[in-house]
Amino acid sequence: MPGAADVQGRISAAAGRTPGAADAAQLLELGSNENPYGPSPAARAAILGQLDSLHRYPDPLGADLKRALAARHGVDAAQISLGNGSHELLMQLAQVFAGAGDEVVFSRYGFAVFSLAAQAAGATARVVKALPRDAAMPLGHDLDAIAAAVTPATTLVYLANPNNPTGTWFSRDALAAFMARVPPAVIVVVDEAYAEMVDVQGCTSPAGGRMPGAADADAATDALPLLAWFPNLLVTRTFSKAYALAGLRVGYLIAAPGLVAVMERVRESFNVNGPALAACVAALGDAAHLRATCEGNARQRAALADALRVRGLCVLPSQTNFVLVEFGADTAAIEAALIQRGVVLRPMAGYGLPEYLRITVGTADENRRLLAALDAVLPQAS
Ligand code: PMP
Repeated sequence: MPGAADVQGRISAAAGRTPGAADAAQLLELGSNENPYGPSPAARAAILGQLDSLHRYPDPLGADLKRALAARHGVDAAQISLGNGSHELLMQLAQVFAGAGDEVVFSRYGFAVFSLAAQAAGATARVVKALPRDAAMPLGHDLDAIAAAVTPATTLVYLANPNNPTGTWFSRDALAAFMARVPPAVIVVVDEAYAEMVDVQGCTSPAGGRMPGAADADAATDALPLLAWFPNLLVTRTFSKAYALAGLRVGYLIAAPGLVAVMERVRESFNVNGPALAACVAALGDAAHLRATCEGNARQRAALADALRVRGLCVLPSQTNFVLVEFGADTAAIEAALIQRGVVLRPMAGYGLPEYLRITVGTADENRRLLAALDAVLPQAS
């Protein structure tokens, strides 16, 4: 499974080999689902405001950020725990709720960290190979098959909505039906790293307004309204994607206070640093920046998907800041040729999908550069 170190390796290789690309700054890094719009200026200012307090330990409870998140999501602060990125939380959840002899269930093309978390906890990974019958959502989660894979040994289920690397999603109604089938002793984690970017019909924007095209509530995806009904449900979110603060490493989970209390006991006391806490509070206060970012992403995602389809490529539907693209043949040579041109994409061979590349949606300029590079390397373009 390619990880962050692998991406760095490919970036370094590209920096060394790209004619005229003197340093990594000239590279087009579209392999890590980073947000090209950058964070809110308020977050930047908040970090600068922390520079004279670096000799102090941060608030171990992260009380200001939890309060701001509670207000944003309409939950109690006791329902929130903070992590050093949601990656840390996903790993810790397996440490807490799964161990030797326990089963952790997740989908074959679910987020790669689910498998790592199960392994690190010494649990047995029960990988659901079935894929949705819904042809519009290929490679996504088959919730029926995942529910059927739960056994008396299952203690934890991981879902990602929308999912990485597929970009696919499922509705809140489908999740509610799934939860009704899963025994209450099984913890169900819904990883919503890209939730703010979702703009399927009926979903509200992060700022609370209706996103363009919103029509009815049936297609809503976020799981938070289900927390009141299912005490075994746990949602993770991150500041790395829509808020463009990946470098600060802040994620959070929302769940029933009893579950959160357990997570609060096991985490490292100062797992989120002071500048990060302050920046996230500031970022939450800048709804206009978040809205502009998500709208820009949605526009560019649609334009990029169209442009790729025009080139004869198959683009999976996505509600994230990336698209999964099928090239119809092994992509290793295309990926290598793009690296030579300073364009870094994410190969999918580690997922057993060698004919696919995952492409982060960039700005309009970045997408133009990507398409020009693709036109130069795609066999049919030569
Ligand atoms: N979940 C998903 C689905 C992701 O794609 C990512 C980042 N690639 C994460 C969680 C982890 O994000 P972070 O640790 O930066 O919060």
